[in-house]
Amino acid sequence: MSEDKLSKIVSLCKRRGFIFGGSQLYGGLSSIWDYGPLGVLLKKRIKDIWWQEYVEKREDIVGLDSAIIMHENVFLASGHLSGFCDELVDCPQCKKRFRPDKAEKIDEKLYRCPYCGIEVDITLYKPRKFNLMLKTNLSAVETTPLWGYLRPETAQGIFINFLNVINTTHKKLPFGIAQIGKAFRNEVTAGNFIFRMKEFEQMEIEYFVKEEEADKFFEEWVKERFNFYIEKMGLKKENLRLREHTKEELAHYAKRCVDIEYNFPFGWSELEGIANRTNFDLSSHSKVSKKDLSYFDEEKKERIIPFVIEPSAGVDRTFFAVICDAYDEEIVKGRLRVVLRLKPELAPYKVAIFPLLKSDNQLVELAKKIFYDIKDKISSIYDDTANIGKLYRRQDEVGTPFCVTVDPQTLMDKKVTIRDRDTMKQERVSIDRVFEFIKERLNEECFIS
Ligand SMILES: [Zn+2]
Repeated sequence: MSEDKLSKIVSLCKRRGFIFGGSQLYGGLSSIWDYGPLGVLLKKRIKDIWWQEYVEKREDIVGLDSAIIMHENVFLASGHLSGFCDELVDCPQCKKRFRPDKAEKIDEKLYRCPYCGIEVDITLYKPRKFNLMLKTNLSAVETTPLWGYLRPETAQGIFINFLNVINTTHKKLPFGIAQIGKAFRNEVTAGNFIFRMKEFEQMEIEYFVKEEEADKFFEEWVKERFNFYIEKMGLKKENLRLREHTKEELAHYAKRCVDIEYNFPFGWSELEGIANRTNFDLSSHSKVSKKDLSYFDEEKKERIIPFVIEPSAGVDRTFFAVICDAYDEEIVKGRLRVVLRLKPELAPYKVAIFPLLKSDNQLVELAKKIFYDIKDKISSIYDDTANIGKLYRRQDEVGTPFCVTVDPQTLMDKKVTIRDRDTMKQERVSIDRVFEFIKERLNEECFIS
């Protein structure tokens, strides 16, 4: 894969309504993106499948939706207030801030500004610590601010609700709390499309276990989450790998961490991290809040602070990987065909319905009737805003598995043409069998339940 592929994917995402630049109308904001009509459908499918898999199908994991804005002390306890910082240098020429650790190093004190290219002496322009958390004033009076923070990870909302969940659900170890939601980091290193964003979405599970079982569950979660990307997201196995964090890389709270990496067009990068966070967070929140967050272990008849295994996945990165993996080009009859070979369960639309000629009222009416008959059973779209060649091309590019075309012949034989996205094979199917035909070829998860 290449940079060229990256620009093709970005352009497809913008062209087809998956992703738009954030605040684009006003010149845009760096590392902030909006999801368009197609993007929101794909993103929702990713989240729904994750939620079904871990909350709905399992009895040992419960869901949570905690607030985005949190009390300052949450981040005092978690260590984010003091430790969640980047070292930044202010470029004397272009005035932009950059991270020397990510910039070109010329010698011990000279670093190249990635924006304007001048050499900056960091003994003169000393790096300053810059907290990545976004802060907001919760007070109505500006002169007496009450600072709240937009969470930099969904995890803390889970830890501070640990007692609430235990007391209301009576869960016993091992058990997990799952959450999908937005998190915010004021990242300075912009880049690679939606890979690193200031506002992003996470799918996190905090899986609470006894200390002696932590290693065993860690291994299980790594395996489980690796397979999820292949089986549920349809990613190719050769584009996935595991990478163990070195001792130096480990976060202050972690005993062990393994990343699941994806082979993005710009190289292998993190899709998900699975960490053994030990009992750091619960212990620390106990100390700062002065509330007992321990758990009574009935076997040992003692109070313990559970360890936690955290599979932390990025929704946007999963979305990005799914599109990269599905993107394909082929030459058909001398012309380039771009096709998103999405797993049908993920495709925004499963079926598209067209009349061959939009000037023919009978064809239009019949095509619309087929659309209205199936649209509450399966995600579908009706389109007559271009010629048939263009209509097929649009649906190929957004990964729609089936296209149904109503043509003049249909009026005679009551049959339509159904075209398969991957093989482009066309079959004549009787109108009253359209839904059945699709049902036979797609999994149950593709239908509206
Ligand atoms: Zn500069």
